[in-house]
Amino acid sequence: MKKHNFSAGPCILPQEVFKEASQAILDFNNSGLSILEISHRSADFVSVMDEAQSLALELLGLKDKGYKALFLQGGASMQFLMAAYNLLEKKAAYLNTGTWSSKAIKEAKLFGEITEVASSKDRNFNYIPKSYAIPEDIDYFHCTSNNTIFGTQIKEFPATGKTMVCDMSSDIFSRELDFAKFDLIYAGAQKNMGPAGTTLVVIKEDILGKVSRKIPSMMDYSVHISKDSMFNTPAVYAVYVSMLTLRWIKSKGGLKEMESLNNEKAHLLYSEIDRNPLFTGFAAKEDRSAMNATFNLTDESHKEIFDKLWKDAGVNGLNGHRSVGGYRASMYNALPLESVQVVVDCMKELENKV
Ligand SMILES: *Cc1c(COP(=O)(O)O)cnc(C)c1O
Repeated sequence: MKKHNFSAGPCILPQEVFKEASQAILDFNNSGLSILEISHRSADFVSVMDEAQSLALELLGLKDKGYKALFLQGGASMQFLMAAYNLLEKKAAYLNTGTWSSKAIKEAKLFGEITEVASSKDRNFNYIPKSYAIPEDIDYFHCTSNNTIFGTQIKEFPATGKTMVCDMSSDIFSRELDFAKFDLIYAGAQKNMGPAGTTLVVIKEDILGKVSRKIPSMMDYSVHISKDSMFNTPAVYAVYVSMLTLRWIKSKGGLKEMESLNNEKAHLLYSEIDRNPLFTGFAAKEDRSAMNATFNLTDESHKEIFDKLWKDAGVNGLNGHRSVGGYRASMYNALPLESVQVVVDCMKELENKV
């Protein structure tokens, strides 16, 4: 039986994508070859890469606006340093909203002076800081749009007038935004776009070439752009499955439709968290993530009964991250509303049992 998969990442992808992707392992495009055994320079794969790049820009509304989409390796964690390598000459400003922001700051410090403009560490990152000043003399501002571990999400981005860099690993393609506000967006595929192994990088070309340091080829966005994301062997299969997912998003109505479904799921779950006296939400209400909902039992002694309830109902991946405890429901694009209803029913059932 297919599980209701709330895993934070790698995570659920559309069933249609799993079917098509598994077929391509046996026979890709009726070529008599598996996608796993073809050259990344073959016409069939080059067209996959082209389509993936083009769909990414189209869905973000960034076509013909001076942006390039790349599918790189090394995860979002590599982007923590690559962004700084390519953009940081003297000083950058970072908003610290959780584990991933903190890691991005740590890497960037190797390349220049980092000003942490605000941090929500004082309350275990359960909110998004709102009023902070961004210095004038910075090369760029960096933020994390969605905090996968703590379950908070930035709803309004600051207007900086500076180069804007954003780690969108866990909410890329989940909502409509004015993406043209950003100059560099990166996202590990495995949260909302595809399998682990590739990272989407969307970059405005005119921000490059401004630092004085020498950049090794593999770290240099310009090199990857000049080679159309084929400087070395890309993660062929991960890019292919990401492309299928992007096609699926487009066929479902794009980001507008994704956002409306994601809001519906989030509303269903958060309403129950707020109604049910046995649970409390972790994140500040106005900053709640539509992707990752974090919540705790008000009485830990109910844990055994609740865990049995959801496990018996075919739910997977509801355990919270160790830094928050409790529960985390990751409700990425491909997660059906019915799966959220199953968890909500378990929460109601717990009320009847205790
Ligand atoms: C998971 C995650 C990362 C790390 O991604 P890797 O691809 O494992 O390096 C970075 N940022 C955010 C917001 C994440 O959710």
